[in-house]
Amino acid sequence: MRRRIVQMGAAGIGGTLLARSAAAALPEIDAGKLQGGRVEFPAEVTSSERPSGGPPNPMPVNERVGFAVVGLGRLALEEVLPAFGETKKARLVALVSGTPDKAARVAAEYGVRPEAVYDYAGFDRIRDNPEIKAVYIILPNSMHKEYTVRAAQAGKDVLCEKPMAVSSAEGQAMVDACRAAQRKLMIAYRCQYEPYNREVLRMVREQVLGPVRFIDAVNLQNQGDGAQWRFNRSLAGGGSLPDVGLYCLNAARFLTGEEPIEVIARSFSPPGDPRYAEVEETVNFMLRFPSGVVANCATSYGMHESRLLRVHTPRGAISLDGAFAYDDKQLRIAHRDGRAESVDERRLPKQNQFALEIDHMAECVLSNRQPHTPGEEGVQDHRIMEAIYQSAASGQPVALPRVDGLDRTRGPAPSSS
Ligand code: NDP
Repeated sequence: MRRRIVQMGAAGIGGTLLARSAAAALPEIDAGKLQGGRVEFPAEVTSSERPSGGPPNPMPVNERVGFAVVGLGRLALEEVLPAFGETKKARLVALVSGTPDKAARVAAEYGVRPEAVYDYAGFDRIRDNPEIKAVYIILPNSMHKEYTVRAAQAGKDVLCEKPMAVSSAEGQAMVDACRAAQRKLMIAYRCQYEPYNREVLRMVREQVLGPVRFIDAVNLQNQGDGAQWRFNRSLAGGGSLPDVGLYCLNAARFLTGEEPIEVIARSFSPPGDPRYAEVEETVNFMLRFPSGVVANCATSYGMHESRLLRVHTPRGAISLDGAFAYDDKQLRIAHRDGRAESVDERRLPKQNQFALEIDHMAECVLSNRQPHTPGEEGVQDHRIMEAIYQSAASGQPVALPRVDGLDRTRGPAPSSS
C-alpha cells in the first residue's frame, strides 16, 4: 500500500538521474493498509498520547441490517436518525409517520426512498419490504405495544424505546407476541451500551473499590407546558417515574445485577398545577437488594436538570455526573491514596451511545443472538414501577419476589467496539 512520492515527482521532471535521486529521499506516502477487511493506519503519536481511534471500518452498506424508524418526533430527529450516520452494522431504509410533509422532507434528508415511507394505517405493508429487517419504535409509550406486535407479525425484529409500555401486562404481551412470531425484542436502554455507564459497571462488578453498599441515582428535569403527551396518563402511563426515573431504577438493577426485594416510595405533585392532574411530578424511591445494597433514587419533572449516579463502597465512591444525559459526562473516583484523599477523573473516547445501541440490535439480528436488554428487562422495570406506585399510594413498603442469581433478565453483554 505504501507508495513513494517519487512516482508523481519523477513523471513531472522526465526521470533524470538527478531528479530520481532527489525524489528517492522523500518519505513514503502514509496511505494506510487494508488488512483483514479493515483499513488501518499506523499510530501517528507515541503511546504517551491519546490515539486517534482509527477508522471506524463499518460494514459495507448493503450488508448492514435495514431499519425502519417508527415515529418522527424529537428523539427520532434529534438523536436517532443522525446516529445512523455513525452506525457500523445498521442502516436506515424506511420511515413510518403520521405527518406526510415532515416524513417526505426527512426521507429526502436521509436518502430514504419515497416508496419506503409508510403511515400508521399502512404500517403492515412493511412486511413486503425485504430491505426492512428491524423496526425502531419511537412513539408515545402507549403506542409501543401495538406497533411492536404488528411489526413482529410482519416478520420484523423490534427495537423499542423505553419505557417499553404503560404496564407490565402490556410489556409481557409484547414479549409473548415476539416469541410467538420468533422475532427479537430489544428495549432501548441506551445507558447499558454507553461507555461511561459501562465503565462504572465494570468497576462495580470487579469490585475495584470493594463491594458496593449504596447507590444514589438522581434524574431530574424541568418539564415545559401542558400540551404534551407526557402529561396524558393514557399516552404516557405515568409522569416522571416511567420517563426519567426509569433510568435510576434500571441503573441500580444493571449495576448490581440483582433484583430488589423491597421498595419504599413517596410521590408529590404541586397542588393546582394542571400539568399534574393525571401524572405525578416527583417520586423518591428506595430499593433494597438481596445482598444488602440499598439504592436511593429521585426523579422529577419540576427541577432543574441533574442526572447523577453515585456508587458508594467502604473504600471509596464512583461518581458519574451526567450519567443519564446524551453527553457531557464526568466520571470521578474518590478514594484514599496514602496520606492524601485522591479524586481521579477518567475520560473515555467519545462514542455515540445511540449508534452503539442500534449496532447492538443489528449484531443480534445478524448473528441470531438475544439482545443484552431484551423485552424481559423492560417487563421487570414495569413490575418494580408498579410496586413503587403502590408504595407511594399506601405509604407502606412493598415486597417483591426474590430472584436468585445475577442478570436474570439480560442477554449476553454487548461487544465493546
Ligand atoms: P415526541 O412527542 O417528540 O414524538 C413522538 C412522535 O410520535 C410524534 O412526533 C409523532 O410522529 C408520533 N405520534 C404518533 N401518534 C402520536 C400522538 N398521539 N401523540 C404524539 N405523538 C404521536 O416524543 P419523543 O420523541 O420525545 O419520545 C418518543 C419515545 O421515545 C417515548 O417512548 C420516550 O419515552 C422515548 N424517549 C427516549 C429517550 C432516550 O433517551 N432513550 C429520550 C426521549 C424520548 P409522526 O408525526 O412522525 O407520526
